[in-house]
Amino acid sequence: MARKTPAKPAPAEPVPAPCEACKGTGTVAVTVRVGRRHRVVGRQDGMCLNCFGSGTT
Ligand SMILES: [Zn+2]
Repeated sequence: MARKTPAKPAPAEPVPAPCEACKGTGTVAVTVRVGRRHRVVGRQDGMCLNCFGSGTT
């Protein structure tokens, strides 16, 4: 069996891969709950905890 030349690693892309959790936006919609019954009062954008708001992994 002939030795195969190892494939060259792909060059680093200038644009990092977008975060999967927030799709690169850096923010995720979070549901706001208040009170003991956890009544939902609305939704707001929160910082993505997966990429810490950077939008990239
Ligand atoms: Zn993210």
